[in-house]
Amino acid sequence: MDFGLVELSAEDRALQSEIRAFLAEIFTPDVFQHEHETGSGFNPKVYEALGARGWLYPELPVEQGGAGFTPVQKRIMELELIRQDARVMMMQGTSSLPMAAVRKYMDPAVADPILKECAAGRAVMCLGYSEPDGGSDIANAKVRAVQDGDMWTINGSKMWTTGAHISTYTFLITRTDPEAPKHKGITMILVPLKSEGVTIQAIRTFSGERTNIVYYEDVQVHDSMRVGGVNNGWTVLHGPLDEEHSIGLDMNGGLTDVSVGTGMCRVLGASMNEVASWAHKATGSKGQLLADDIRVRESLGAAMVDYEAGISTPGPMGRVKASDVLVKNAAALQDLVGTVGLLPMNTEGSIGNGDIEYAHRFAQGTATYGGTVEVFRTIIAQHVLGLPKAQLPGAKVFLAGKKK
Ligand SMILES: Cc1cc2nc3c(=O)[nH]c(=O)nc-3n(C[C@H](O)[C@H](O)[C@H](O)COP(=O)(O)OP(=O)(O)OC[C@H]3O[C@@H](n4cnc5c(N)ncnc54)[C@H](O)[C@@H]3O)c2cc1C
Repeated sequence: MDFGLVELSAEDRALQSEIRAFLAEIFTPDVFQHEHETGSGFNPKVYEALGARGWLYPELPVEQGGAGFTPVQKRIMELELIRQDARVMMMQGTSSLPMAAVRKYMDPAVADPILKECAAGRAVMCLGYSEPDGGSDIANAKVRAVQDGDMWTINGSKMWTTGAHISTYTFLITRTDPEAPKHKGITMILVPLKSEGVTIQAIRTFSGERTNIVYYEDVQVHDSMRVGGVNNGWTVLHGPLDEEHSIGLDMNGGLTDVSVGTGMCRVLGASMNEVASWAHKATGSKGQLLADDIRVRESLGAAMVDYEAGISTPGPMGRVKASDVLVKNAAALQDLVGTVGLLPMNTEGSIGNGDIEYAHRFAQGTATYGGTVEVFRTIIAQHVLGLPKAQLPGAKVFLAGKKK
């Protein structure tokens, strides 16, 4: 294993400067304000500007709408986007999960134009997995799809379909054989969300993120939008699920975040920086600078140690560690700074323009979406520690395709 730093070539350094300058141009203050107001993790102006250069999915070949970036160049792009605001790019990450399955399983004549629209930033895909009855055990999906000739009729509802309101398609788990064992009776369908019979209802979460309930009432979808074989949906889901949960993936030659939770923890990192700056200016009741106060120094030092563990723990442990670290330390930072930590964005006196207040709200949802930390703990018990298989409803879902 080579732990050496990546040396950027002159060409890559020039590209890095070009990307940084371009992102500074398109990430204008109204982009952040728009995200704050909508919580959609999406901005059409930013996506289309990136898409026009092939930079939304830059690792794709030029003929597929990408820029043919090398792994190093792709990593440069990711890191430069993070320097701006990763929140706006959430739907880029979400879309990338089903895009690979669409490319692999659908007829290229149907898939290619769809994927090109995604690469251009004009189309987005969301994940229609969870249902009102449960999100951990997605193989238990009940949304029904019935085939009649070339058409499917879809009925039912999906819960927590984040991005449905701005997406062109949803990557939908449907129940196509209710008699078969649950993993053998599901089929993936890419449903155009403009279809008649689709109703999208907003849910605004505590963290400010917008998600949705989506109702499907006699929605008609052509069979060409089926992704993979009929009743073979579980096989199709392996790739997107494993990628979402960072299970069994190669690490792209080290050019990727070590932990699936690194992105979550960045919110904490930003908050710690802001609290450190605040401590340089704020004074205690006796006029002493808080940066000199041993309790402030110890608390920030302890948060920093946790943060490092949160961004560097691999596999399913990283998912749990990042969320635990974030929940615990976002609260600790609020305790440390006192009431100013409750002031939100665009409020006079807030720390880092509301960073602390946001981190605390954001932290709570991280224990749930993408699979709950409880489910991940059972995965660790079984697959890392070799404990017997848990007899719980969601036990199989995050291990799609993984045989012990
Ligand atoms: C903000 C947000 C965005 C989301 N975005 C999406 C999205 O875009 N698409 C999508 O499909 N879903 C999305 N989800 C849904 C998310 O994946 C589910 O909420 C999650 O998987 C848990 O499902 P559930 O809420 O239905 O809880 P349930 O599955 O009903 O679980 C209830 C409780 O039982 C526990 N539990 C269940 N099974 C096990 C087990 N095997 N071992 C131990 N404990 C277990 C859970 O931890 C939980 O505490 C989102 C959720 C949120 C909050």
